[in-house]
Amino acid sequence: MKYISTRGGAEHLTSAEAILKGLSENGGLFVPETMPEVSQAFIEGLVPLAYEERAVRVLKEFLTDYTEDEIRGCVTRAYGDGKFDTERRAPTKLLKSHNVLELWHGPTSAFKDMALQLLPQLLSTALKKTGETDDVLILVATSGDTGKAALEGFRDVPQTKIMVFYPDGGVSRIQHLQMATQEGGNVNVTAVRGNFDDAQTGVKEIFGDKAFGAELAQAGVKLSSANSINWGRLVPQIVYYFSAYADLLAAKRIQMGDAIDFCVPTGNFGDILAGYYTKCMGLPIGRLVCASNKNNVLTDFLTTGTYDRNRAFFQTITPSMDILISSNLERLLYHMSGSTDAVAGWMKELRETGKYTIPQALLAKIQETFAAGWADEDATKAAIKSAYDTESYIPDTHTAVAWRVAEEYQKKTGDQRPMVIVSTASPYKFNGSVLAALGQETAGKDEFALLDALESLNSDPTPVGLAALKTKTVRHKDVCEREEMRAFARAFADK
Ligand SMILES: *Cc1c(COP(=O)(O)O)cnc(C)c1O
Repeated sequence: MKYISTRGGAEHLTSAEAILKGLSENGGLFVPETMPEVSQAFIEGLVPLAYEERAVRVLKEFLTDYTEDEIRGCVTRAYGDGKFDTERRAPTKLLKSHNVLELWHGPTSAFKDMALQLLPQLLSTALKKTGETDDVLILVATSGDTGKAALEGFRDVPQTKIMVFYPDGGVSRIQHLQMATQEGGNVNVTAVRGNFDDAQTGVKEIFGDKAFGAELAQAGVKLSSANSINWGRLVPQIVYYFSAYADLLAAKRIQMGDAIDFCVPTGNFGDILAGYYTKCMGLPIGRLVCASNKNNVLTDFLTTGTYDRNRAFFQTITPSMDILISSNLERLLYHMSGSTDAVAGWMKELRETGKYTIPQALLAKIQETFAAGWADEDATKAAIKSAYDTESYIPDTHTAVAWRVAEEYQKKTGDQRPMVIVSTASPYKFNGSVLAALGQETAGKDEFALLDALESLNSDPTPVGLAALKTKTVRHKDVCEREEMRAFARAFADK
């Protein structure tokens, strides 16, 4: 199977090449040229398997240039080895009213681990397969979660180095400790004086700096990024939709062929897009419900066909969904319209005017699969309280947005299909907001007191990765000015 750009052009790459390259030459995203289809027997065959074996079967469909042994090696290193705190890796919890697909049992307690554990393995295997001898330096600007997940994924992966920039004083105490205590021989974490935009702009400038690229090339180093437009971050996410279906089959909640819905808390549209791939491959999915917070640009798009980022930006208790440009939507537009010219045109309009409108017929086609809704802060908190009261389950804030939107969707449409709420973070990661939603006093408590307070209400214990922060040594104390980021990156590359 070959990969092409959503904006056209002659590129025609293997998956290993697409993963190494990240973004296409014309700025488009890599997509598979054809969609693999699977049979009912394929889906039923997943039921008795462990998560890793389910992953091998699904990934094989897309990574046709990797051998099965290579894929199995990548998957084992990503998900095995005690990195996840449950044997099932991504368990589907069966509650009375819904099912909850928990994607946060990895080392950093958020769903980014599902992809960022596997991407480094796929990338380092791709280096070997393509005969690339240079090292790869991954640069990441983070507002918190992605940086830590990328550090954990890339730590000690051969032929790679990773450097993460975060805004000094701009991340939560837990997030700061998670990054500052990072272990591994190939990692660097540096605070930047400024906000997240400063850090991100600095990283983008380094990527665009031709002279810098040439200096690195001389030193045998290539720059790359770990952000969510890389195909190697999307493809791991396809696995858990299949896995959830297999879990429901195993539990006899559904029978083979029954259609189910997923409701997905959405930011960059990566997670829910993986669900769309799964549906195209033949998994019986009724609707994919796109759940947004107050930054509801996607709700508007999926309702009206106009994408308009010219609007106020809100900081919410669901920071991982505080996004106005959902990059992966470009892939959906390509698959739904089949036209690289149309996609290139809409993306140009987005760049130049901040908005674009798709034809009504295309919108209607998208709406056959996608529904959308959003929840404000009060509704999000109320969903946490209600989940606790009715199901004795404590969702994190992001999951609570999906919870609320799923229930509204079912009420509004009368859709009776089984619903899977995709749960993207452990409640412990957003302990302050979660405790406040449950009516608990949080004032004056430090992060570790908050973890203990939540643990006293929750049947799941504090994830080991978060509990261990209390005693870990701070290893990274560098702080730089925005103008110094390039020099810091250069010094790290030479180390
Ligand atoms: C990244 C993230 C999301 C959004 O996922 P996208 O793939 O960007 O749509 C939702 N919840 C949490 C906790 C996240 O970290």
